Amino acid sequence: MFKKILIANRGEIATRIIRACKEMGIKSAVIYTEEDSTALYIKKADEAYLVTPGPIEAYLNIHRIVDIAQKIRADAIHPGYGFVSENPKMAELCEKRGIVFIGPPSSAIELMGNKLKAREFMKEHNIPVVYGSDGPVENEKDAVKWGKMIGFPVILKASGGGGGRGLRIAKNENELKRYYSLAKSEAAKFFDNPEIFIEKYITKPHHIEVQVLGDHHGNVIHLGERDCSIQRRHQKVIEIAPSLVLSDKKRKELGALAVKIAKLVHYTNAGTMEFIVDSNMRYYFMEMNTRLQVEHPVTESVTGIDIVKKQIEIAAGLELGIKQKDVKIKGNAIECRLIAEDPQNAFLPNGGRITAYYSPGGIGVRIDGAVYKDYVVPDYYDPLLLKLTVMGGTWEEAVNRMRRALDEFVIRGIKTNIPYLQAIVNSEDFKKGYFDTEFINEHPELMDYANRVDPADLVIAIASAIAMHEGL
Ligand code: ADP
Ligand code: ADP
Ligand code: MG
Repeated sequence: MFKKILIANRGEIATRIIRACKEMGIKSAVIYTEEDSTALYIKKADEAYLVTPGPIEAYLNIHRIVDIAQKIRADAIHPGYGFVSENPKMAELCEKRGIVFIGPPSSAIELMGNKLKAREFMKEHNIPVVYGSDGPVENEKDAVKWGKMIGFPVILKASGGGGGRGLRIAKNENELKRYYSLAKSEAAKFFDNPEIFIEKYITKPHHIEVQVLGDHHGNVIHLGERDCSIQRRHQKVIEIAPSLVLSDKKRKELGALAVKIAKLVHYTNAGTMEFIVDSNMRYYFMEMNTRLQVEHPVTESVTGIDIVKKQIEIAAGLELGIKQKDVKIKGNAIECRLIAEDPQNAFLPNGGRITAYYSPGGIGVRIDGAVYKDYVVPDYYDPLLLKLTVMGGTWEEAVNRMRRALDEFVIRGIKTNIPYLQAIVNSEDFKKGYFDTEFINEHPELMDYANRVDPADLVIAIASAIAMHEGL
């Protein structure tokens, strides 16, 4: 087994990986920038190395990261998600320099990292994809041709996109014309790849994804699915496991399909196949994420399998040690992404000092966090503060537990999306499990709840008004 792992990431996911290392008796090392120097993960790791330049560049510098790993005699690098995790050159460099990359081979990242390439690959292997353009759409005329052929609404996608960015829905020809050049120039700017393609926009679908694990001995299994349909602007907000809409038959089919895809691309380590599922429960391959996923805790909760430990074991050459028939889904899990953003101000990211912090606990509550009282949330990074995951014997119990846990949460000093999450969890449709990816758009009234003045804020406001009045 490895003796030391370098974690090429930050925030909550660095903390998550450190926890796995500690339980496995492996030393953990992290990198951090000046801007991150008060971050919690630095304190939790055994070793921490300052890298420049911040705030972002140093976390992306694959040569420097591998140099550090060699210098400190780390056996392996865990990339987490984002940053270098889906950079095939990173995996390749590790392969060359004799450091283990805790992830799939660079060839699998290369193929799946490009949405269009992945889609063409699936078509060749008769795996269902959403009806769309054959290859990239080269110009506006081409876009209109495909738009008419596919039928509106359509969705424009950047081949290199990710994290909910680079997507645009066109309801008609005019919108398509308008969005096409915009999407193309944005793609070139943000993803370094101007390639765009078009798919039919499926209305009221579910985003259902399957977690897979593959070792270096030919064993591939899946750990069931997650439903990530609660999204805002194509970004996941709440994820659950298992799905509430899949029949057992469909669940088996989808799991088997995910395993088949993993085998086709000679996949090893942890990965996720994302599917879009229409209201008739027909499913289509959407993309594959060749890394640990933000929402992996819901799968861990319902399977009891530590995905990060499995990633490390697989990378070290061990056998999976679990057979498909041993994977049992038990209960229901829900994860909320707690984000430093202001629902009352267009959900803009909102940094600043946390003046009070009290996290929920008790049965079935898990926190994957990165913050503490007096921590100043930097403005430079993804505003995800922490993930709150609850586990219940039934869906109803899980919902009630999440409501209770969100009510217990106290974070002061900065604005968070907690009120918005509370609004979702308290809505009748959510409680009944009636939701698809259009849930947030179809429930504008959630904003009323999120907009209400927090009673605690009211106390503070009144107290300061009195103090002012009394000249204190
Ligand atoms: P998940 O399904 O794990 O939530 P996301 O697609 O939301 O995956 O992305 C996870 C992280 O990776 C986020 O921090 C996101 O910003 C980042 N990310 C994913 N793809 C890209 C990309 N093409 N460019 C920049 N960041 C990305
Ligand atoms: P990203 O890399 O940003 O995660 P995805 O291709 O996974 O991009 O799509 C993100 C989200 O956009 C999906 O979860 C889904 O809500 C929506 N989406 C993508 N493709 C379609 C489609 N063809 N029809 C309807 N919704 C879609
Ligand atoms: Mg996706």
